[in-house]
Amino acid sequence: MRVGIGYDVHAFGPGDHVTLGGERIPWSQGIRAHSDGDVLLHALCDALLGAMSLGDIGQHFPDDDPRWKGADSRLFLRHCAKLMRERHWRLVNADLVLVAEAPRVGPHRAAMQAHIAHDLGCQRDRINIKATTSEGLGALGRGEGLAAQAIVLLAHADGALHGH
Ligand code: MG
Repeated sequence: MRVGIGYDVHAFGPGDHVTLGGERIPWSQGIRAHSDGDVLLHALCDALLGAMSLGDIGQHFPDDDPRWKGADSRLFLRHCAKLMRERHWRLVNADLVLVAEAPRVGPHRAAMQAHIAHDLGCQRDRINIKATTSEGLGALGRGEGLAAQAIVLLAHADGALHGH
């Protein structure tokens, strides 16, 4: 078994929607990012890559590469899923937390879980998504951006043989 942790933050900018957990949410602002700026998926990808000792999302998808300009972050997640399959890792569970004053996750939680479970090829109940605010403190508390943390546990298909 292997654990991994991920963290990501993006600032709000001009726009009319944010993308979180693969779900497009209409909003009064957009996200400043090279890709779609999906902090939940970026944190999750970093956690998955971390658990496999494969570096971080920036090494796999450099943010100065024009191919990833405006990219759908589900591409990144599916890439991580492919790396997991190739190495015979499966997801035991993922726990994600969004830190933001707004928008609220509640109405979109089920859709986000469905997107992530689909891309990782796992049951939805292996994906937990929760949210908290910064209680008005700091940049996140002033509503200047969004942050997310993720932790994952992976199990290896050969675990019984090799003690993974
Ligand atoms: Mg990011």
